[in-house]
Amino acid sequence: MFSGQDICAVSTPMAEGGIALIRISGENAVKIGAKVFRPLSRKSVEDMEGYTCAYGEIVDGKGRRVDDGVLTVFRAPRSYTGENVCEITCHGGLFVTKKVLRLCMENGAVMAQRGEFTKRALLNGKLSLTQAEAVMDTISAQGEYALASANLTREGRLFGRISAVTKRLVEILGELAAWVDYPEEDLPEVEVPALRKSLSDSAEVTGRILEDYDNGMILKNGIDTVIAGKPNVGKSTLMNMLLGFDRSIVTDVAGTTRDVIEENAKLGEYVLKLSDTAGIRDTQDKVEKIGVEIAKKRLRECMLIMAVFDTSVPLDEEDRELLHELTVLGKRTLIILNKSDLETKLDMGAFEGFENVLTLSAKNDEDRVRVQRAVESLFSFSAYDPDSTIFANERQKECAQCADRYLRAAIDSLDAGETLDAVTVMIDYGAQALLELTGERASDAVVNEVFSKFCVGK
Ligand code: GDP
Repeated sequence: MFSGQDICAVSTPMAEGGIALIRISGENAVKIGAKVFRPLSRKSVEDMEGYTCAYGEIVDGKGRRVDDGVLTVFRAPRSYTGENVCEITCHGGLFVTKKVLRLCMENGAVMAQRGEFTKRALLNGKLSLTQAEAVMDTISAQGEYALASANLTREGRLFGRISAVTKRLVEILGELAAWVDYPEEDLPEVEVPALRKSLSDSAEVTGRILEDYDNGMILKNGIDTVIAGKPNVGKSTLMNMLLGFDRSIVTDVAGTTRDVIEENAKLGEYVLKLSDTAGIRDTQDKVEKIGVEIAKKRLRECMLIMAVFDTSVPLDEEDRELLHELTVLGKRTLIILNKSDLETKLDMGAFEGFENVLTLSAKNDEDRVRVQRAVESLFSFSAYDPDSTIFANERQKECAQCADRYLRAAIDSLDAGETLDAVTVMIDYGAQALLELTGERASDAVVNEVFSKFCVGK
């Protein structure tokens, strides 16, 4: 078992609250707990069994009462970290919380690094690296799908999917190594078609995992969305409607929205990262020109364009310019024909070539759900499956991409009739990438990088 110093940290947020929780982990955690906590029942902390708690007083070095609270004991290996753990809850004032933490440190514990409790759980074999990462995903989840997906990963679902592939690759490597290293032995010939089938089955799984990561990226990072349209069509009004409160300044003067304003709007399960931009008209105004350039760049880079047109005025040159731009870009686009409460003067025929056209009034909050449905269908969110969606992170995705690339290269080499030595090397690299993904063979640098993103006390 991993054995480091005894560590302690405040696991609740460093802010005033009802109660705070201070956690101690390590071989001497219970001894430290006994020094700072006096149970009101006669039983001492050191005699307490795992999974039991006691009400009592937190005391300083001179035996003076600092606060009262509850202490819970977990005995190794049946604890989150796999070590002895004591958790003390006290009143959630900042001063008192810090004082209890200091008492733990005076009695031998050192301050925990970010994510150090979870890192110890990993080092003690309680979790895989993907499960440890899912702990943070559970904490940061902002919707049902994200939470369900993080929980499934935490239960080991992703680890299981990847391990099955790794196991198969390691078996193949074993057979190939025997054949390559001991050619004089009377080993059965490597069956190339069977080998190819195994590799393509494995590559199919890595390919699917990559797809699931892409869905997870949308869930986690949101859909990068640009609201485009000439001035005064109602972009800010639409943005406010989607945000659910007045965020940008709405005025009747054309061209008010000059800067790119970015906001996150939660539509159902999904987050739209909205930017409300300047129109893309020809302008001599220097400031506006910069805005137009930024708007064009954003249109090229975003995942979704919401193009807004005003139904109460006829189509003009600027509208046509935007329509042309949309056709050229050919991206996921939702056309919003706004101000449906006013008399229609817009030539609706101009939008016939577009698939997703919604006529609405941005002033009518009830139209928000129609925008949500349109976005959901554009990204086929209704087909989302938390069982397969991976609430992704870049590290895992890079490993999966690397494995996928090597497996496909191994198949190509086989097809090209290259030597089995060359194929073996590629399968080996592919297996290494998967082992790094699950953390079974990740370097200290990778592990440290993962935990640097955690909060203290977790
Ligand atoms: P932007 O320049 O495209 O951001 O347009 P704004 O959101 O600032 O809206 C311009 C004007 O149109 C404001 O006076 C809004 O109140 C008005 N407006 C926006 N949406 C609607 C709508 O659906 N119906 C009506 N009648 N007016 C709207």
